[in-house]
Amino acid sequence: MESIENRLGLVSFTVDSESHIKPKEEKCDNCRLRVCLYVCPAKLYRLEEGKIYFNHEGCLECGTCRVACPEELEWEYPRGGFGVHYQFG
Ligand code: SF4
Ligand code: SF4
Repeated sequence: MESIENRLGLVSFTVDSESHIKPKEEKCDNCRLRVCLYVCPAKLYRLEEGKIYFNHEGCLECGTCRVACPEELEWEYPRGGFGVHYQFG
């Protein structure tokens, strides 16, 4: 089976300047589970000195964080023309 790193090589991105996913700082500060750190296949959430940081660049638009987050994660698809491009074949 292909590794996730190899598979991620099959996608490209048109990065928007604004994030289409907006974790709420106050919610993240008080979140006990912080599942976003573990479920994102692109590892876009990171924990630094007790705070959660998110970088939308490289988002696969899989929706996993949206489903897994116990809080209301502000989540939308990127604007038209932006985001991930999957390549097949
Ligand atoms: S799971 Fe949701 S609320 Fe918790 S830290 Fe991650 S984004 Fe924030
Ligand atoms: S939609 Fe998927 S790839 Fe994008 S941040 Fe959420 S879990 Fe990660």
